[in-house]
Amino acid sequence: MLELRTDYLDQLDRESVVALLAAAQGSIPAPVPVIVTCRDPREGGVGNRPESVRIEVLRAAIEAGADFIDLEYANFRQPQIGSKIRSALAGRPGSRLILSAHDFQGEFGNIRQLCRDLQQAFPDAIPKLVYTANHINDCFDAFDLIHQTKGDRMVLCMGQPGLISRILARKLGGFVTFASLDEQAATAPGQLTVGTLKGLYRYDRIDAATELFGVIADPVGHSLSPAIHNACFAAQDMNRLYLPLLVQGGEAQFDQFLDNILARPWLDFRGFSVTIPHKHRALKYVHAQGGFVEPLADKIGAANTLIIDPRAESGVQRIRAYNTDYAGALDAITAGMGIERKDLRNVPVAVVGAGGVSRAIVAGLTDVGARVTIYNRTVDRADELATEFGCQFAGLDKLSTRDAKLLINCTSIGMHPNVNATPVPAECLRPDMTVFDTVYNPAETLLLKQARARGASIIDGVTMFVNQAAAQFQLFTGQPADMGLMRSVVLGHLR
Ligand code: NAP
Repeated sequence: MLELRTDYLDQLDRESVVALLAAAQGSIPAPVPVIVTCRDPREGGVGNRPESVRIEVLRAAIEAGADFIDLEYANFRQPQIGSKIRSALAGRPGSRLILSAHDFQGEFGNIRQLCRDLQQAFPDAIPKLVYTANHINDCFDAFDLIHQTKGDRMVLCMGQPGLISRILARKLGGFVTFASLDEQAATAPGQLTVGTLKGLYRYDRIDAATELFGVIADPVGHSLSPAIHNACFAAQDMNRLYLPLLVQGGEAQFDQFLDNILARPWLDFRGFSVTIPHKHRALKYVHAQGGFVEPLADKIGAANTLIIDPRAESGVQRIRAYNTDYAGALDAITAGMGIERKDLRNVPVAVVGAGGVSRAIVAGLTDVGARVTIYNRTVDRADELATEFGCQFAGLDKLSTRDAKLLINCTSIGMHPNVNATPVPAECLRPDMTVFDTVYNPAETLLLKQARARGASIIDGVTMFVNQAAAQFQLFTGQPADMGLMRSVVLGHLR
């Protein structure tokens, strides 16, 4: 289907629109339905054409055989406009009216009533309600309306927080969604390109039974998780879809998001990756719900994976929390060193950094009995972490790798764009060491390059990233992930 936004034409008149319609219908190998729109600037249109011209253009489109015309409800209500459009449609039963309403500020006052008003104004019309979601939680009113109504209808949310409504339109039974031919051609905030919608989100594969997953984060735009999980779903032809879920705000908004999900089992959300800044909140939420929490996730104080069990006997959805970061790191270490987890017992390890990633790795390493020393710029943070997990600690300026068999960078030093930085002087690196950098962008950091040059074994951050994602995939689907595919998707994006 093609929408012609005729308000973008430099020359807007009956003849131009009829010619454009004919060209659009003729230029495509198989006939596709065409929507002709001449959007009022008060509802997001461009240009400042007189109303009479816009209505004439729509009448001309109907007479020339447009399958659909889109007219704003606010204009259709005006008797002189409504009667002109009605009379044009009466002579052309093949053309349908889309009656639209837009709110660029936020939600409509009463979306249900507005939808009824649109349906009553012209029962054969397709109601189209589009509002701005200022937070992802604003999308649920759109989902509810579409879920509770029947027939041809569209309810979409604009803005980045509303992006998922554009993808989920197909699952929920929306008449169509809108996508742009390229990024510059988007006609509304948050619109995706056709290529992204069909490629990354496999729009043509989505149906009412599609199970949903996603990454809860803020920001979320840079996340590689949608690309790797959707690629694995596609490779195994799974009817599953992984979404970027921009959850802004603090604990209250995060909790409300999950409450919204759990209250709507018909959305078929089955699992989430959780990342900055929500990992601790995720753990707290599951505790408050009385759900299962993996013991080590509890000890780390962060959950990066949530699983929703479709329906317990009580009819209430249950939620479980896991942490795949520590396991992803431990698996990267054991594979890189060619040992098993039990062999890490008493191995001296220098961990650089005392933030979130360090915490997960220190918890995992101490759990298997490794002898960890934490080095951090802010010594108090190293002290706190070391006290909690029974390790040694020192300031980063006191870094000593004399005893260490394994050195792990858990700081962001060396990460793009500061690729010429390293947290560890090259002279601290020895051939009998394994050096693991959790930074994955770039895949080979300066630290790893220097370690390799000095003959040390190296483990890159991509391996840990893929391991934790693969563990999530296993929790999501019960199936092993294609880790080679995951790695190539990550490297492809980094390139
Ligand atoms: P975080 O909680 O913000 O911790 C950052 C750590 O880096 C702190 O220890 C901080 O020291 C240190 N640091 C930052 N800038 C520094 C500087 N200029 N000099 C000295 N120390 C500095 O971050 P995080 O969540 O732990 O993430 C850390 C890194 O892990 C990320 O940048 C990312 O590259 C990597 N990561 C990898 C994966 C993976 O799967 N491979 C997943 C997530 C993250 P202070 O305490 O002194 O501030």
